[in-house]
Amino acid sequence: MSNETISTEDETRLLDGIDRWLERDVRDQVMALERADEYPREMVAQMREHGLFGATIPVEYGGLGLPAGTYAKIVTRISEVWMSLTGIFNSHLIMSKAVERFGTDAQKERFLPRFASGEIRGGLALTEPNCGTDLQAIRTTAARQGDDFTINGTKTWISNGIEGDCFAVLVKTDPEVQPRHRGMSLFLAEKGNGLSVGRRLGKLGYKGIDSAELVFDNYQASADNLIGGEEGQGFYQTVGGLELGRINVAARGVGIANAALAEATSYSQVRETMGKPICEHQAIQTKLADMATRCQAARLLTEYAASAYDRGERCDMEAGMAKLFASEAAMENAQECMRIHGGYGYSTEFPVERLYRDAPLLCIGEGTNEMQRIIIARQLVARNPV
Ligand SMILES: Cc1cc2nc3c(=O)[nH]c(=O)nc-3n(C[C@H](O)[C@H](O)[C@H](O)COP(=O)(O)OP(=O)(O)OC[C@H]3O[C@@H](n4cnc5c(N)ncnc54)[C@H](O)[C@@H]3O)c2cc1C
Repeated sequence: MSNETISTEDETRLLDGIDRWLERDVRDQVMALERADEYPREMVAQMREHGLFGATIPVEYGGLGLPAGTYAKIVTRISEVWMSLTGIFNSHLIMSKAVERFGTDAQKERFLPRFASGEIRGGLALTEPNCGTDLQAIRTTAARQGDDFTINGTKTWISNGIEGDCFAVLVKTDPEVQPRHRGMSLFLAEKGNGLSVGRRLGKLGYKGIDSAELVFDNYQASADNLIGGEEGQGFYQTVGGLELGRINVAARGVGIANAALAEATSYSQVRETMGKPICEHQAIQTKLADMATRCQAARLLTEYAASAYDRGERCDMEAGMAKLFASEAAMENAQECMRIHGGYGYSTEFPVERLYRDAPLLCIGEGTNEMQRIIIARQLVARNPV
C-alpha cells in the first residue's frame, strides 16, 4: 500500500511535464517505431530523466514516491500516445514494490536505489508455458544447497525479458507441499550465468517492448536474493502486487479508450457523407456518446480504486472492477473508432489499428477478465454475508 501524497500543484506540474515530453519527443515517432517493432531506447533514456522507473518507489530510496492516483494518471497520459512505453516501467515497478513491501532492509538498500534511477531495469517472471492464471502449477524450482539455490525452469511472456537486467522470479522451493502455495518463493534474479533468453515472442500488438521466454539452467541464486529471506512467501508476495498492477492496467485502458474517442471525435467532424459531417448522423452520434460515457466511467472507477489503495484499504474488488471495466471499454472504443473511420480504420496509416491491436492485451494481463469477474463476485459475497 502507498501512503504517499502529492499537492494538486505538484501533480499538475508533473503531468504537464509528461504531456510536453509526449508531444515533443514521442507522438511523431510512434508509428515508425511500432512498424519496426523497435525498442524505444531514446525514450527509455528520457523516461529515466523523468524519474519514471522510480515513480512509486519511496523518496528515501531515490524514487518519486508518487501515490497510485498520480501514477495512474501518468500511465493514462502515456497510453493515450503509445501504450507500449508504460510496459517498460510498470512491471519494473511491480518488481520494485515487492522489494519495498516484503524485502529485507538489506535488499531494499541494495536494489531500490538502482531500480529507482533505472540503472537496473526489469520485471516479473511468473508465467510459464503450462500456466499463467493457475500460478500454483508452476514447475520452475529452486533447490537449496547451503546458502545458495539452484534455479531450473522456463518462464514465458516476460515483459522486458531481453532488455531487462533483473526479474522477480516465482519458483517452487518445495514442489511437494500442500497447499501448493506454501512451497512458493520469490527471488530477485539478475542476468548472468544460467539465465538466458530463450526467444523473443511475436505479438499482435504491444510492439516495441520485448516479450520473451527466459530459461533458468542451473542458475545460482544467493539466499540474499530470496525476497524477505523466508521460503514459502512467494505466492502471497506476488498476489500482494496485483492490486497496483490492476490499477495500472485500468489506467492503460482509460488511455486507449480516450485515444479512440479523440480520434473518432475529430475524424467524424471532417468526414462528410450525404452532404454533412458524419458526426451529424445519429448512428455516429450514439457511438460517440457511448464511447465518451465509457471513458468517463472507466476513469472514475480507476481513480476510485487508486484512492482506496492510497488510503491503505483493501481494494482487490475495486481494482478488479476498474481493470475489468476499463479494459473492456478500451476494446469497445477501439472497435467503434474503427467503424467510424470506415475503410481508413483498417489502414495502417492511421493510429486506429494500433489501438485495436493493443486493447486486447488489457483483458489478459494482470489476471484475465474472466478471473476478475470471479474475484469481484467472491468479494461481493464475502463483504455481504447473510
Ligand atoms: C504481451 C504479454 C505480456 C505479458 N507479460 C508478462 C510478464 O511480464 N510476466 C509474466 O509473468 N507474465 C506475463 N504475461 C502472461 C500473462 O500474465 C498470462 O498470459 C495471463 O496470466 C493468462 O495466463 P495464460 O496465458 O496461461 O492463460 P490460461 O491461464 O491458460 O487461461 C486460458 C483461458 O482460461 C480462462 N481461465 C483460466 N482459469 C480459469 C478459471 N479458474 N475460471 C475461469 N476461467 C479461467 C482464462 O481467463 C483464459 O480465458 C504476458 C502476456 C502477454 C500476452
